[in-house]
Amino acid sequence: MNELEILKITKNSYEDMNKLLKNANISKEESNKLEKSMNALKNIYNSTYSKIFNHNELITNECCKNCNNNLLVSDNIDYSYQCVECDENYYDFEVDTNNVWYKKGKEENKKINSSFCLELDYDNKDKTIFIGTETGAGAKCKCNTIGELIDSIKFYCYNYLDYGKRYSIEIWETDWHRNVGEGYIYNNDFDNYDEALRTARKLFEDYNYASIEILDNKGEAIYCRDNESEDFYFENERISCVDNELLSKYIDNWTNYKEQDLKVDKLYCRGDDSYIGIDNSTGNCWIEEFQTEKEVQEWLLGKTLEKEDLDNEI
Ligand SMILES: [Zn+2]
Repeated sequence: MNELEILKITKNSYEDMNKLLKNANISKEESNKLEKSMNALKNIYNSTYSKIFNHNELITNECCKNCNNNLLVSDNIDYSYQCVECDENYYDFEVDTNNVWYKKGKEENKKINSSFCLELDYDNKDKTIFIGTETGAGAKCKCNTIGELIDSIKFYCYNYLDYGKRYSIEIWETDWHRNVGEGYIYNNDFDNYDEALRTARKLFEDYNYASIEILDNKGEAIYCRDNESEDFYFENERISCVDNELLSKYIDNWTNYKEQDLKVDKLYCRGDDSYIGIDNSTGNCWIEEFQTEKEVQEWLLGKTLEKEDLDNEI
């Protein structure tokens, strides 16, 4: 969970408890407990806020009514926004917006991030409509009137349509779990691939799991890690990140015409301050060094062609 998400959840819980405290008929003892919890939330909010060094993350779309500058998320949980220029805090009702930063976005405001083709198939005999997409699950609804047809499509769009690209993480705790296929989905999913990758790597290293995968919104594995290697799956391509020893062995086998244990032809390893990539897809075992992981992956995917390669090929 990133800092902004923690702020959102904390602020929402704080607001809910505040509403209860002010409006519900509760005992003195219960009020005290609620106030204690609210204090804990306030501390979490403050410490999370102080961890955010890049204040760009805190800039909202809303503007200050005095100076017209963009408002920031407030550093005080009792308020919602702050203007740094005017040194002023605002409640959300003081700001002209129906899209308050910590409130859950409305379904209809969700962005659509992928192409799709909506299929509608009405059966007049059954009075049912089938709605589906080429990749997503379909739904069948009873439907007698045009109004019901529109409602059915609305229902489908809100409940079935995959809007954005989202990533989830699946974990197999031990080899036994892996062998019997008992993985479980990590309780957080991600809009951002880099964040999913960072989390998957950290979980794998911290808990010593047998294997871990990142799944895309179609449930397909695009990253798999076990004790031997990390494999990245792109369209029709697979790239493996291995340790130094395996990489040396790979080069050794290639030099000595030995069969490879590792059945891949695009791999790299993380060095101390660089990445060594091997592209053996043409059987020539090209080796290159890069500064970043992104660079080595792009080279292996053929998105960049180094000048040296061009020279070598000629
Ligand atoms: Zn201002």
